Amino acid sequence: MLDKKLPFTKDQLEKIIEKYPTPFHLYDEKAMRENAREFKNAFSWNEGFKEFFAVKAAPNPYLMKILHKEGFGADCSSLAELIMVQKTGISGAEIMFTSNDTPAAEFLKAKELKAVINLDDLSHIFYLEEYAGLPQLICFRYNPGKLKKGNLIIGHPEEAKYGFTHDQLVEGYKICRDKGIKRFGIHTMVASNELSAGYFVETAEILFKLIVELTHKLKISFEFVNIGGGVGIPYRPGEERIDINAVSRGIKEKYEKIIVANGLGPIKLYTECGRYITGPYGYLVTRVLHIKNTYKKFAGLDACMANLMRPALYGAYHHITVAGKENQIAEVVYDVTGSLCENNDKFAIDRKLPLLERGDIIVIHDAGAHGYAMGFNYNGKLRSAELLLREDGKVVPIRRAETVDDYFATLDFAGLSSFRT
Ligand SMILES: *Cc1c(COP(=O)(O)O)cnc(C)c1O
Repeated sequence: MLDKKLPFTKDQLEKIIEKYPTPFHLYDEKAMRENAREFKNAFSWNEGFKEFFAVKAAPNPYLMKILHKEGFGADCSSLAELIMVQKTGISGAEIMFTSNDTPAAEFLKAKELKAVINLDDLSHIFYLEEYAGLPQLICFRYNPGKLKKGNLIIGHPEEAKYGFTHDQLVEGYKICRDKGIKRFGIHTMVASNELSAGYFVETAEILFKLIVELTHKLKISFEFVNIGGGVGIPYRPGEERIDINAVSRGIKEKYEKIIVANGLGPIKLYTECGRYITGPYGYLVTRVLHIKNTYKKFAGLDACMANLMRPALYGAYHHITVAGKENQIAEVVYDVTGSLCENNDKFAIDRKLPLLERGDIIVIHDAGAHGYAMGFNYNGKLRSAELLLREDGKVVPIRRAETVDDYFATLDFAGLSSFRT
């Protein structure tokens, strides 16, 4: 069983808060690096293995730089993400561009950076050709349809908007082959926050079999297979971490049985995980602003769903620790809320916590992926700062908090005086 300990004490947090007011996101560099190394080592049997960190999970160039140092590339899906990784010093084959419903400008940017382009649809071959020209290496995203079950976050594959059908894959690779492309990859991503090792082994198996089929049918060869992201993390105490070594062993077995046994390979294995890489290593630090007793007990925080949307969006569980009260019995039931004028602005519903007081420091766990990243400005809420707890114990800002001036930056108030009504 995994208990959810904090990598910092209440005293440390109080010192940080003196300098950086709550709420803020705080990332643990040491733990993030250790996990990154473990992840990379798990797949060392595959010579070209590479994790392309899904930038959308934690789009911060400082975090990207750390992960790049650990050997990771970047998986982008928008213009801003491409520019961010470019500014971080990542380029070429270290960028995977996996997007959908893609505008021409993004294909152009991906092409300029020599990113590996992963197409979401058959029609995009011609769109890409028209607006940016075809690259020398191309990858397609496969949607296995009924072959595979999805989950709540990503939906059932046959209803998901992503990817090519089987027959479209055959056609797409044939078209590209006939246009003179010689380098190919294949990709799929059908689940998110999946905790079973077998799921990823099965995904790899499906892709390996497809590679054998496509290679024989079309006389083309594959350089890489990208099994996507979606590796889950234990949000709840008591949930087990996925055994990443078991995932790797299972995939290796299938690789030998399907790829090697058919005389193919070597083929590089790629992943594009986000959540597994940064999720557990980011914390939303906030304080109790008000305690309210009506039909229920409410603990109102100085953070809101604009800082972490997953509970409101998916009903997701995020563990909560009250700094300094770690050893007190959780015996009072609270709804832990934000201040947005939306009743679903709750970080937790009917959560047992130690007795809370105004000013208590609340730490919300597992906010390091799809946390800050999903932030928004609805209701005039401002995005928080992001801080990094470095390996030497120092805390540095890696993004300042938004101000009202940032919020108003796109408005021209001066224009109001000459605006006739
Ligand atoms: C969101 C996304 C990922 C990362 O998903 P995680 O669940 O964070 O691992 C990877 N690839 C693509 C194409 C995505 O859209």
